[in-house]
Amino acid sequence: MVSGLLKRSAAQAADFAHLRDASVEFRQAGKNYGDNQVLKSVDLKVNAGEVVAICGPSGSGKSTLIRLINQLEPLSAGDILIDGKPTRNLQGKALRALRSRIGFVFQQFNLYAHLTAEQNITLSLTHVHGWKPDEAKQQAAALLARVGLGEKAQHFPAQLSGGQQQRVAIARALASSPQIILFDEPTSALDPEMIGEVLTVMKSLAHSGITMIVVTHEMQFAREIADRVVFIDGGDILEQAAPAQFFRSPQHPRARRFLQKVL
Ligand code: ADP
Ligand code: MG
Repeated sequence: MVSGLLKRSAAQAADFAHLRDASVEFRQAGKNYGDNQVLKSVDLKVNAGEVVAICGPSGSGKSTLIRLINQLEPLSAGDILIDGKPTRNLQGKALRALRSRIGFVFQQFNLYAHLTAEQNITLSLTHVHGWKPDEAKQQAAALLARVGLGEKAQHFPAQLSGGQQQRVAIARALASSPQIILFDEPTSALDPEMIGEVLTVMKSLAHSGITMIVVTHEMQFAREIADRVVFIDGGDILEQAAPAQFFRSPQHPRARRFLQKVL
């Protein structure tokens, strides 16, 4: 108990633990892989609590864009400000504190196959964030209930459907009570009949205060839920607009072409 509390208060001393209004601001952010410039010079501000949908063709840089936010990939140029604070050179404890404020949901769920749903959620709480096992289990139970899987705590990923696995992954992303959650095509690997249950969970999160950045081809979801749609192609943001406007009258020819294909 005491050690858990001590560890947590130590983490809170790090820069990002007090983050509340978690805005995300790209400032001339660039990313190269060798000679390949996959993000050019991105300027984008996502406000705290905002829901932003990122869309664009395959290979346009969408995954790279959101992976930069929690430094799954390091930036090559520019910076990303979280709650107004630069993050480019964060390391060690400060980087861990930043990451604990940011949840990430992958296309392929990325659950640990040898761990139960509950253990997938408690692992980082107990091993990274210093929670007591009992507290972590309570958190897992609350989160599994929140995503409609209260009965599945002791199931392993292989015993769950794709939609259920992705809901566990969302619960896991929420474990450390992040203020920002990033989704990278969370429904793209799912059979069509399972997409709805995942989108329903995502809708329940939207506008609950958490900042949401969602890479998605689910244009109906973007239209209904997003505050803003950002269209990216060739490593550049070519257009951003409110969904009603973007879907009614996309301005950029490449956005028009993209929408003709996906709608
Ligand atoms: P999207 O998510 O829009 O499909 P990505 O961000 O995955 O696009 O990829 C953008 C470009 O960066 C692609 O050309 C891709 O091949 C390249 N890329 C992505 N990740 C890597 C990597 N780890 N190493 C080298 N090139 C990469
Ligand atoms: Mg991608």
